[in-house]
Amino acid sequence: MIQFIGLRDEHGKIQKEIDTAIKKVIDSQYFILGEEGEKFEKEFAEYLDIKNVIGVGSGSDAIFLALLSLGIGPGDEVIVPSHTFVSSVDAVRHCGARPVFCDIDENTFCIDPKDIQGKISEKTKAIIPVHLYGYPAEMGQIMDIAKDSGIFVIEDACQAHGAEYKGKKVGTIGDIGCFSFYPAKNLGAYGDGGAVVTNNDEIAEKISKLRNYGQSKKYYSDFIGYNSRLDELQAAVLRVKLSHLDEWNENRSKAAGSYGQLLDGSSLIIPKEADDIFHAWHLYVIRHPKRDELQEYLNENGIETLIHYPVPVHMQKSYSDFDVDLPLTEKISQEILSLPMHPFLRDEEIETVCRKIKEWK
Ligand SMILES: *Cc1c(COP(=O)(O)O)cnc(C)c1O
Repeated sequence: MIQFIGLRDEHGKIQKEIDTAIKKVIDSQYFILGEEGEKFEKEFAEYLDIKNVIGVGSGSDAIFLALLSLGIGPGDEVIVPSHTFVSSVDAVRHCGARPVFCDIDENTFCIDPKDIQGKISEKTKAIIPVHLYGYPAEMGQIMDIAKDSGIFVIEDACQAHGAEYKGKKVGTIGDIGCFSFYPAKNLGAYGDGGAVVTNNDEIAEKISKLRNYGQSKKYYSDFIGYNSRLDELQAAVLRVKLSHLDEWNENRSKAAGSYGQLLDGSSLIIPKEADDIFHAWHLYVIRHPKRDELQEYLNENGIETLIHYPVPVHMQKSYSDFDVDLPLTEKISQEILSLPMHPFLRDEEIETVCRKIKEWK
């Protein structure tokens, strides 16, 4: 079987470093908001070139706490893509605001700036562009629109650790960036984890209280908060993995390059990369009108594939109270297929996948 992701390979490369890092935490018997977390926050901030990183419990919490920190709540609207993981939009509903869905750009799979403009109302407080599959959303136009309308931008960079838009790391361009360290992400913990990143010190302070019961110091609560911290074991793992992130993203990029070459001339629509971005290649997503047939055929041939995502958020049962037409989002959800992609995909594996695809059509 050609595996979709390669966590076992990743672990194999860093096993010794991980064992040492975990042992250190266990020996210290200090598990929440300690030295490892602080060091990871500092190192990730340096990596991204941003002032503040606040470790939280998950990517979902990062988005939710980001919205809360901006005072967004009931009566407010937040512009979101529907072609994303449901969690990007759930966060908006958790804080009581209303998501307003936008369609996507067919080439990048990210929110279409042209569709945002018409969906801004007096109630709009923020836009959440999602850098889906590791591809940076069109941040230049999105920031212009946000500035003109006086609204915030919260980047969902949960799939895009290390991706760059015009030389800047994604997550650092809007008012707030949100990352997930779910194990399968480009930078994954050995459990759940997330981070909020921002250059705004006031927002950073608010988030660090929100994640810790609203406390400014132990047992002094300034406002109603939550329990959402990145724990010491996860932070220790992430510190090890962060030092490999660029190399592993480079591997992904090479794999994507090979796919691109070998699939050229096939019947698939393959993903492209603009010159002024660095794609983090979290996923390699192709399109074909007979997607389901192709997936079944690849499965029969020992090639594992997934669909990200089969049902757009606005068409989920949990969103049945929403009635909106998003033609491209709906069309693309029927055609997309994610091929195996991870930093340790071997050349032979890529060749096999591409050969099988070419034999199919
Ligand atoms: C993974 C992911 C999230 C949620 O992150 P968790 O850590 O799983 O809560 C949010 N948005 C996108 C685009 C994601 O891929």
